[in-house]
Amino acid sequence: MTLPVATPSLADIRQAREVIAGRVLCTPLIPAPAFSGSTEILLKLESLQPTGAFKLRGATNAIHHLTAAERAGGVGCCSTGNHGRAVAYAAAQAGLRAIVCLSSLVPSAKVDAIAALGADIRRVGDSQDAAQTEIDRLVREERLTDIPPFDHPRVIEGQGTIALELLEERPDLATIVVPLSGGGLISGIAIAAKALKPDIRIIGVSMQRGAAMHESLAAGRPIAVTEAPSLADSLGGGIGIGNRWTFAICRALVDETILLSEAEIYRGMRALFCEQRLVSEGAAAVGVAALLAGKLALNGPTALIVSGHNVDPAQFLAVAGGESVRIGDQIVKG
Ligand SMILES: *Cc1c(COP(=O)(O)O)cnc(C)c1O
Repeated sequence: MTLPVATPSLADIRQAREVIAGRVLCTPLIPAPAFSGSTEILLKLESLQPTGAFKLRGATNAIHHLTAAERAGGVGCCSTGNHGRAVAYAAAQAGLRAIVCLSSLVPSAKVDAIAALGADIRRVGDSQDAAQTEIDRLVREERLTDIPPFDHPRVIEGQGTIALELLEERPDLATIVVPLSGGGLISGIAIAAKALKPDIRIIGVSMQRGAAMHESLAAGRPIAVTEAPSLADSLGGGIGIGNRWTFAICRALVDETILLSEAEIYRGMRALFCEQRLVSEGAAAVGVAALLAGKLALNGPTALIVSGHNVDPAQFLAVAGGESVRIGDQIVKG
């Protein structure tokens, strides 16, 4: 399978590592004896990044590469989640203005978290589409640069730095298990890891309902999926019908994609807390969840990316305590 011209290379990802050094944490890779049987399981704790998720790597790299004119105009996005936090934080570190457009439906706790990082919040309309329309207007009229959450070479390179850290510490890794949504994280990791070690396996994990990349790979082209509420809310959203990078990279380099039920994700979150005392959001627990569900074929030392910990405290406490939680129209229990 051929990759798009100008797909990020290992050299680009090595350069991204220089760029983000000192601005983004080089996260610990910890042993997980409770999950290791005859095969060693390791956890890469991206949840310890200052914004609570790995997205800071890509956002920091993308902002660094802006031209002087682009920097003067500032940056923006309309993500309410981990990407919005990352853009706000990285822009503040670089001394740039950041505008995050949010619909009136976004809960105030999320708005406050992004505002606390110094971003200018614009509340517009009552849908994500309205927020995107406002960003598009700011790009046209106020020279704002929109930083995309996954389908962008500089973002992919930033996320790929995780694989450099992993293989430096453990050149013997046989498999890397990666939470999968738009595919920026797994694309960067797959490019770097397979360049360094061609026989390493890269496995993506998503939730059953609304697994946009999995469905697109099966269809052979980017397709839209119906979104559904999930414990792994950070894995929601589509890959974009006009996807330029991550679909082709995933098709060429991802060995397997695995889907999980809400109950399986719940058990992953709970096990990370009970066995390792780690707080993780649903999206970050899918590696452990796939392992516990018996869906991972192990062939040697395996690293699971624990991608973030930005979970609603009440929901986390319920899961950690083994109580049932309501996710959309489902009642989920382990
Ligand atoms: C964004 C995100 C993912 C998925 O990353 P993609 O690059 O969209 O595949 C996984 N986990 C967390 C916590 C995230 O914020």
